[in-house]
Amino acid sequence: LVASMEEVQETYIMVKPDGLQRGLVGEIISRFEKKGFKLTGLKLFQCPKQLAEEHYKDLKAKPFFPKLIEYITSGPVVCMAWEGVGVVASARKLIGVTNPLQAEPGTIRGDLAVQTGRNVVHGSDSPENGKREIALWFTEDEICQWTPAQAPWLR
Ligand code: ADP
Ligand code: MG
Repeated sequence: LVASMEEVQETYIMVKPDGLQRGLVGEIISRFEKKGFKLTGLKLFQCPKQLAEEHYKDLKAKPFFPKLIEYITSGPVVCMAWEGVGVVASARKLIGVTNPLQAEPGTIRGDLAVQTGRNVVHGSDSPENGKREIALWFTEDEICQWTPAQAPWLR
């Protein structure tokens, strides 16, 4: 666990359709930016049904699966790839638990949502799924590697 927290990872974060409709895109991006993670991919995207089903394939047997697919494809989403030390678990902490009523105040879901079926944001649950989901939602040329400038505006 300590080793994985010190390792540079990538995670897939997505503002769900309700987050976009409610004007929360900037607020949600800010949480990850201010924490200090690095944005390496960003796009507005209307998700096809097939992609939503592939993304959530582990939940296929759940009774809420059809509603979940309907929700995720109901309007555009904002797809993001974020990179950083321990970013996978840290992003999940920033997001809060699945049910927004149980999510701690200070987390995105705890501050901004009330319904499990309208919980505004997605975050990968493991480094493996981070890689899998980024490869699923982005083409290689949509991911940008960049090095933060050393505050040249202060020189
Ligand atoms: P998380 O997004 O926190 O990783 P899960 O992977 O368990 O949560 O579920 C994926 C998404 O499916 C949730 O974010 C939520 O939008 C939806 N979902 C999960 N459980 C339920 C439920 N009981 N009823 C309706 N929607 C649900
Ligand atoms: Mg999940």
